Amino acid sequence: MGKPKPPSTICKLVVTVTSTGGARVPFFHCGINDQDYVADNEGYLEVTLPNPKQYPIRITADGYVPYNGLVVVGYPITVWTTQLEVVNPGPTPPVIIFPTVDQIKDMKGDLCGISASGLPRFSSPSPYVFTPEYGVHTLENRKVIRDRYRAAFGDWATMPISLRNGAVYSDDYPSIDESQDQIFLLELYNDKIIPLCALMRDEDKTVDTTLPFALIKAAFVKWEQNQADNNNTQQMISETWQARQLLTVDAVLLVHYTDEHAAGIGDDPFWYCATCGNPYFSANVSQGEVCSHCHVPLSLIKVGKGESISPEAGFWQWAKKIGIAGIMYQDDRESNADVINRISDFTVRFGQGINGWPTGIWFFLFERGTESKYNNERSVEYWNTLNRAVLNNNFPGMQITGFCSGR
Ligand SMILES: [Zn+2]
Repeated sequence: MGKPKPPSTICKLVVTVTSTGGARVPFFHCGINDQDYVADNEGYLEVTLPNPKQYPIRITADGYVPYNGLVVVGYPITVWTTQLEVVNPGPTPPVIIFPTVDQIKDMKGDLCGISASGLPRFSSPSPYVFTPEYGVHTLENRKVIRDRYRAAFGDWATMPISLRNGAVYSDDYPSIDESQDQIFLLELYNDKIIPLCALMRDEDKTVDTTLPFALIKAAFVKWEQNQADNNNTQQMISETWQARQLLTVDAVLLVHYTDEHAAGIGDDPFWYCATCGNPYFSANVSQGEVCSHCHVPLSLIKVGKGESISPEAGFWQWAKKIGIAGIMYQDDRESNADVINRISDFTVRFGQGINGWPTGIWFFLFERGTESKYNNERSVEYWNTLNRAVLNNNFPGMQITGFCSGR
């Protein structure tokens, strides 16, 4: 199989088609982005495309079965050749290896815990790499970060990253080039690191529909969503639902809350379609209507105060129904007794399904101590010692599913 020449810019796609005998197929036709291109006499085709994103592609050549597929443009690896070999079976070339759901569930990592030595800190006080701002670093420095991360946590550790500017602490950093999202994701997968993607900025009201959803396998809706959305039920529920609809069905979606709030509901109630979970913010919608999502005649379930189960239990029943896998729980208190006590509230409910809470929800201790590490007040070692004691605690109902605040 011939090795494609790497594209000179991120928005170029190199296409080669390999025959069964290993030779390039010359002069094949490639239909992409409403244009028809023809490869040269060495079977090499380079196409410049307006944006790094996913495109339908059609390959035809004399004597071969036409190939129809999807390509993600903007990364100089040979994955496309993989797909083209459907036409001409040959040796197995590299492909994008995504983490399994079990690997995502087995969360390990630290968004503010590996040394920033030798790397630019910008205006940040942190002696540690702050992984949400991964995208502000150069190609070479991102490789340094990935190597250190993998050395610290092993294969398929979880690295929280922001795909959009304006998330936590972003004032301390230059802007991320959002057009390179796919490159960031692919290089992380290539190095066996799970990018855990924050889908929204704090101030966003809706999820950006141009995110590279085909490449997002682990995500959360918004940093500290309860705080960012000021406990506004409609806002939290709407964006959580939208995120779930936009992600692929195999992608893991989590929610991130602080210790102040255990669920994505404030004082206002919400209702949802008993068939599909589509949320509504008025009970009156049900009069003779069908659900705007699943088109089944509406039967609404109410979540809020005064119902047979608490608003929190009702929220989690809804969350489980629509496919929210778990909670990233943040608790920055330094008292382990307080933190263990609070975590126990969750594990006893998610583990045993008491008081109407659903079972099967993952519970991650996330971002504990990050702020004090970021501000260079406490060390990684200090927090790791505290956190290890929490992780080793025997919780009622279920153990903590995973962790992303150290080792
Ligand atoms: Zn429905």
